[in-house]
Amino acid sequence: MAAREFQLFAEQLTMIVDVSELEARADVLMQAVLSPPSQIDRLVTAILWARTVVSIVDHFHPTKQVEYCRCRAVADSAIKRLLALESGPEHVRAWLHEFRAMYSVGHPLCAACSAARMIRADPARHWKIEDMTQVLSVSAARLANAFRVEFGLTAHEYIEVVRLCHALPLLAQGVKVEAVAHDVGYSSKRNFYEMFEKWLRMTPKGLMHLDRRRRESLAASLNHLVLKACTFSPGVTSLRQWA
Ligand SMILES: [Zn+2]
Ligand SMILES: [Zn+2]
Repeated sequence: MAAREFQLFAEQLTMIVDVSELEARADVLMQAVLSPPSQIDRLVTAILWARTVVSIVDHFHPTKQVEYCRCRAVADSAIKRLLALESGPEHVRAWLHEFRAMYSVGHPLCAACSAARMIRADPARHWKIEDMTQVLSVSAARLANAFRVEFGLTAHEYIEVVRLCHALPLLAQGVKVEAVAHDVGYSSKRNFYEMFEKWLRMTPKGLMHLDRRRRESLAASLNHLVLKACTFSPGVTSLRQWA
């Protein structure tokens, strides 16, 4: 039965802070629970989907705003259609798309969180502050201040930590240090080592000598530094799994 997949998704949902990650994650669930064989399964699956829609909306509206935002209204009609068996996963996909668009309009991010999203989408890029200030139409000073407020880091430090977050699982898979350094945006191995030492106080080899739990806990702390809900918008609260 599909309940297990829905349960897994519900657990993953607690870790998603960026609405733009939602569709890709939900797609995995859709693939896993496509075309239930019997009518009963169809009904159960519809209920599980409806519950998932509610969890998604609640997750992204933890403060339960008094004002009823439009993303909630759109969710309500999606739920009604699901429970009337008038719609299936393909409609959930369309709803997710609409939800993301409405959520982005109704709950805008601050300059730092918008820049952070750009960085996370392309950590290896040779980022310049002007790339971000131009796209976001903010001054460098305002962006720097927003980064300090939201993450307690400079934009440069933010990029380093995001790169480390990408590097750690690659190293754990046994990818060569040179290749990892290149993959996450360092043209020289030395710069990669310096950045590594700065944040983790060890070399990539030293990291590989740690046991798996220690490595995973380091990775979790790094993620915690860079994955934060925007305080500007009444969106997701801080990540619960590390709280
Ligand atoms: Zn909303
Ligand atoms: Zn923000």
